[in-house]
Amino acid sequence: MNQPMVAIVGRPNVGKSTLFNRLVGKRISIVEDTPGVTRDRIIADAEWNRHVFSLVDTGGIEPETDDAMMSYMKEQAQLAVSMADVVVMMTDGKAGVTVDDQLVAQLLRRSHKPVVLCVNKVDNPAREDMIYEFYELGLECVMPCSATLGLGVGDLLDEIVARLPEPVSQEEKEHRLQIAVVGKPNAGKSSLTNAILGQYRTIVSDIPGT
Ligand code: GDP
Ligand code: MG
Repeated sequence: MNQPMVAIVGRPNVGKSTLFNRLVGKRISIVEDTPGVTRDRIIADAEWNRHVFSLVDTGGIEPETDDAMMSYMKEQAQLAVSMADVVVMMTDGKAGVTVDDQLVAQLLRRSHKPVVLCVNKVDNPAREDMIYEFYELGLECVMPCSATLGLGVGDLLDEIVARLPEPVSQEEKEHRLQIAVVGKPNAGKSSLTNAILGQYRTIVSDIPGT
């Protein structure tokens, strides 16, 4: 996968899946009123101004909870962060800054990844002042948006692609050697791949076929 990766993270119910579906132009991810419905990471291709990238919808980062599903989703989100070139942190403008937002932001600041903070549910353009309180999260780029109405999405995409690495030229791509690691489930393919790449690029799990 040569394509840069953009991950959408944030606590449950802020509108990650709604934004994901809008950016990929299809209804792939499930949007629900029940927090935590995105059970796993969902990946699709997205494009903006000739920048092609993989977009990842994560389950919510739900810090400091014992609930097994929540901690699993947190792991998934952290994994997405470790893989992503740019992270979109999403918050709920109507709800304001929450303790969970602060913990997620702290995790992201420590990752030293480029982060765009998307303050969602700003359905009324006259209420863009809703974003100001979110500057307390210590993230530089704060953008208002309404994922359901599509407001602010173009400006958000501009900020995302501005932080992507330079696209690799076709010539450069053709000279690249591509290696596939194959083998039966649980043989250690992902561990080997991670060891070669020197970073957490694939999901390693004891459960065969993850
Ligand atoms: P996720 O858990 O972060 O993936 O959030 P979802 O995408 O499932 O959305 C959670 C709820 O917020 C759903 O009821 C959405 O319809 C609603 N929602 C998402 N985006 C917006 C928005 O821009 N404005 C408003 N008012 N509601 C939104
Ligand atoms: Mg979701």
